[in-house]
Amino acid sequence: MKLSRLGEFGLIEEIRRTTSTSRGVRIGIGDDCAWVNHPAGSSLITADLLIEGVHFDLKWTSLDALGHKSLAVNLSDIAAMGGVPAYALLSLGIPGNFNSKQIAAFYRGFNRLARRSGVVLIGGDTNIAKSLIVSVCLIGHPPVWPVRRRGAKVGDDIYVTGTLGDSALGLALLRKQLPGAKGNAAAQLLARHHRPTPRLIAGTFLARHNLATAMIDVSDGLLQDLGHICRASGTGATIEHERLPLSRAFRESSGKARTDLALNGGEDYELLFCARPRHRKRIEKLSAPADVRISRIGHCVSAAQGITVLDSAGKPLSLHFKGHDHFRK
Ligand code: ADP
Ligand code: MG
Repeated sequence: MKLSRLGEFGLIEEIRRTTSTSRGVRIGIGDDCAWVNHPAGSSLITADLLIEGVHFDLKWTSLDALGHKSLAVNLSDIAAMGGVPAYALLSLGIPGNFNSKQIAAFYRGFNRLARRSGVVLIGGDTNIAKSLIVSVCLIGHPPVWPVRRRGAKVGDDIYVTGTLGDSALGLALLRKQLPGAKGNAAAQLLARHHRPTPRLIAGTFLARHNLATAMIDVSDGLLQDLGHICRASGTGATIEHERLPLSRAFRESSGKARTDLALNGGEDYELLFCARPRHRKRIEKLSAPADVRISRIGHCVSAAQGITVLDSAGKPLSLHFKGHDHFRK
């Protein structure tokens, strides 16, 4: 089958089906991180690949920001399981016309975030390539029970950290598709696109206190990633559009045509999670220590009801699932 029909997630499912596993693999392909046993305990492991021309454009991305982002996206996957990041392997494919100063700038961005998040770079690989390729593998310490994408139950509340759509709007700005954004608002949207903040404190707290029944980080758009939780958990979801957390910069700049970026825009790197209604008070209180807004945006319903987004009058919006998939056209 053509990959454009199978899609990124169909392909991963095929890979998963043909992969043998073993008892030491407590969580294999299909979640934000793998969870594996070893004689000294267990680890969370995740990997992400960033390719020039696909994930970033050096016309408007500094190498320092790229260093930050290539670690941040992996930290976000560790956060989504409730883990504590520890060790990184960083592999680079570098075009022949690069110089050492450029690579040093990349490492400045990478190392700054690594220091702040307690990550030690322990190795990697270096090669020549046609365009810049960055591959990071991150190893972390799991909580007692890593939070999975599966585990949500009908009736659970659905929450998201931070605000949605800023990064996608920042990208639109870079592509000169957002004439309305100026000044401070524009700077904020760009910062959110270039330097996402992985929500590590929120993730570890939710896992440690057993508050989240399911969790994922929003990398491919809210609806797409909510779809992963629903599929894995065997539920549907109802989202109230009015409750979606939008930054002031987003509201000032998006215009009517782009409000769907809060639902479908990629690269937010916020945490999307489900929790029992009886935990509402404790989850509200998490906002201050985690230094991030936490918004209740809907609840889980039966799988048969699917995923719906309600407008302010309670009427379902017609949805376009346009979340990011690398192969689908
Ligand atoms: P995320 O967006 O959280 O990084 P992905 O959608 O990239 O997650 O991956 C989903 C799952 O599929 C993860 O468990 C990941 O490790 C696995 N995966 C992705 N690509 C491959 C591959 N080429 N071979 C094996 N597993 C893969
Ligand atoms: Mg993820």
